[in-house]
Amino acid sequence: MPLDPARTVAELKELRELTADENGAQRVAWTETWERARAWLREKVAPTGAEHEIDAAGNQWFTLPGSSERALVIGGHIDSVPNGGWLDGCLDVMAGVEVLRRVAEEGTPPLTVRLVDWADEEGARFGRSLFGSSAASGSMDDQDELRRRRDADGIAWPDALAEHGVDLDRALEARSQLDSAAAYLELHIEQGPVLESLDLPLGVVLGTFGVERHLIAWHGQAAHAGSTPMDKRRDALAGAAKLELELRSIAAEVRDGAVCTSGGVVCKPGIVTSVVETAEQLLDQRHLDPAKLARLLELAREASERFAREEDLELEWQRIWRIDPIPFDDRLIELADQSIREVAGSSHRLPSGPLHDAAEVARRGIPTVMLFVQSLRGLSHTKVEDTKEEHLELSVLALDRLTTKALEAFA
Ligand SMILES: [Zn+2]
Repeated sequence: MPLDPARTVAELKELRELTADENGAQRVAWTETWERARAWLREKVAPTGAEHEIDAAGNQWFTLPGSSERALVIGGHIDSVPNGGWLDGCLDVMAGVEVLRRVAEEGTPPLTVRLVDWADEEGARFGRSLFGSSAASGSMDDQDELRRRRDADGIAWPDALAEHGVDLDRALEARSQLDSAAAYLELHIEQGPVLESLDLPLGVVLGTFGVERHLIAWHGQAAHAGSTPMDKRRDALAGAAKLELELRSIAAEVRDGAVCTSGGVVCKPGIVTSVVETAEQLLDQRHLDPAKLARLLELAREASERFAREEDLELEWQRIWRIDPIPFDDRLIELADQSIREVAGSSHRLPSGPLHDAAEVARRGIPTVMLFVQSLRGLSHTKVEDTKEEHLELSVLALDRLTTKALEAFA
């Protein structure tokens, strides 16, 4: 079948009809609705003749053999958060189906072409994102911890997995699926406001941000709000407040997309009649460049020490979590840029704040790139998530162009 981007939009609506209710998409991984979506997907792909397979981590693969066993992989995820949108994850899968149809019709491709529907990208039920792709990339190393996880109803994760034919102890065997991968492509909604603000339908993703997350504990002295003069106070919240405002200049100094967020401060004793004795402050810093990420952290530490001196406070830093930036492949970024310019006139390069399955694939060392299509109002993980239909159609066209270019470049 020749490429028909309008069909992708129609099929996304069909999927919404099948798996959403009045609150939005309900394709949470390891549920009956998710299985219904996967069975529907299998039927959609069947006419292309692509072989269907579910791997040891529950990922769903469709393979069109090519002249070479080396494979160009297109990926997405059909699972959603509860009350999710109609595009997050499944746009990638359904655009990939449309590309498979076109490739199948044209005969044997130079590389094998595979579509993967990653299992449980969202981590909505058990709180662990990127399950299937981290198993396939080999980065999953928390099985002992995963074994202990339970959902809101107290069902253990291994039991839920077993109901869907997945044995947690064998999930890492999915690693072999990427042995033959030559390159990986993923189309996703942006889930942010950048492309809309530039009035551009599509952009190329340079990679995913590295993240530094810390808990900063400020210690002062609780004291009576009435009897303690202003110049005799050791107010822990003053340190946290100064740092929160300083984050703006820190991000501005480091630039190039730097973002810093203090997402919460817990104050103790936290009563109206006392100066704050301890303030526990959350800090999240992100950058695409490892040196600049390190600089963001260094500037925040220096500023915190300065404020601790000014306010006569003690200070403790504790790392909660970190991940390195994961850059995408230069050659594929170039091809993606060309593809977007061909279908939309102009392109834009931007980093991704959220992690995606593509980051796991890139971590495995496989050349990877993502395309973003504009999200209206930057919203996702809600039923109001939306993208203009003309932009959805352009995104299918761009993924198709990119597939053709990647097949040539990596054959
Ligand atoms: Zn997604």
